[in-house]
Amino acid sequence: MDPLLSGGDSVCAIYIAHSDNNIKFKERLPQVYGVTLEDIKCEGCLSDNLFKYCQVCPIRSCTQKKGIEGCHQCNGFPCQFIDNFPIPVGKKVISRALPAWRELGTERWMEEEEKRYHCPHCGYKLFRGAKRCRNCQQPVDVD
Ligand SMILES: [Zn+2]
Repeated sequence: MDPLLSGGDSVCAIYIAHSDNNIKFKERLPQVYGVTLEDIKCEGCLSDNLFKYCQVCPIRSCTQKKGIEGCHQCNGFPCQFIDNFPIPVGKKVISRALPAWRELGTERWMEEEEKRYHCPHCGYKLFRGAKRCRNCQQPVDVD
């Protein structure tokens, strides 16, 4: 299973907004993702109540069909699914993270990702694409 899709839950803005039911945070997301407020819901990558993009994600079904854990194990990367990925911040994450994952191997790569998604100022957990820390309000830049 691809951590970008599964273990990625904990850094996914949609998932965080839904599980915290943080209305103010939720209201900022539709413009980022190009969806309506009602679409901002997800119970996690492995649940049946997925964010609407993830329900039809061709990458998710492609890895399942190929029987691989994720794009880092695929010789075809980057393919048209990556090129056509509908969410700009997601595409940026994939293009950055996948080559590093291949190079470092899963264990070291996960450590690096874990570090990346914490605020350099206060250590608070950040989500992908965050522009500002939700805890200390300092500007941050993670993708
Ligand atoms: Zn912070």
